Amino acid sequence: MRIGRPVVERAAALVGSVIAVRTRAPEIVLTFDDGPDPVGTEQVMTALADRNATATFFVLGTRSRRHPSLLAEIVAAGHEIGLHGPDHQPLPRFDASATERRTADAAKELADLTGRELRWFRPPYGRQTLPNWRGIRAAGLMPVFWGPTTWDWRDLPQQERVAKAQQGARPGAILLGHDGFAGTLDGALEEVTHTLDRHDLIGQILDRYTAKGWRTVSLGHALEKGRPIIAARFSR
Ligand SMILES: [Zn+2]
Repeated sequence: MRIGRPVVERAAALVGSVIAVRTRAPEIVLTFDDGPDPVGTEQVMTALADRNATATFFVLGTRSRRHPSLLAEIVAAGHEIGLHGPDHQPLPRFDASATERRTADAAKELADLTGRELRWFRPPYGRQTLPNWRGIRAAGLMPVFWGPTTWDWRDLPQQERVAKAQQGARPGAILLGHDGFAGTLDGALEEVTHTLDRHDLIGQILDRYTAKGWRTVSLGHALEKGRPIIAARFSR
């Protein structure tokens, strides 16, 4: 039996995560993980405001509790909040029911803090097992992955990061960036020690996109005109 594309797409939808947006609009989706951060979030938000861009911020419960006013600023600026986790521990440590409980509790806490229902979940390190996926979906959220990245977690010359963010960039692509770096206090596996000018980095990346005629928006905004592209994404 030949398995045609619709069958494959239906199978992916059963256990799938969002990996991009199918759209005719010239829009790239911006996502920022690991915040809120007292320095980084402000730098990123200023670069976005300068260019009339919106983004989806996948925040951590640990950091939202430390910086609740930043969370309010993100929402007030027209951006979207997604969940990166109650903390930054790798999900494969947890079974389906623990994943569901942790995800649901953190999503509720953030909804109470922001007054917005959350729709999206970004697994720390992009790692999720099938039981994790089931837990996230049972908590009412949808996992979101990415295409192009900013390489901002690597200690590199800024121009290499700017160039990296062009690879795989096209309308409907989801860019991965960070407005902070989770540390061991957040349950991260290691500390990122280099510093970077996020205002300059995001500004340069967005200016390159603008030169190609692309706008930059949150995932929720992009889905007003497009449909999610769903694929199975699992790793331990
Ligand atoms: Zn992260």
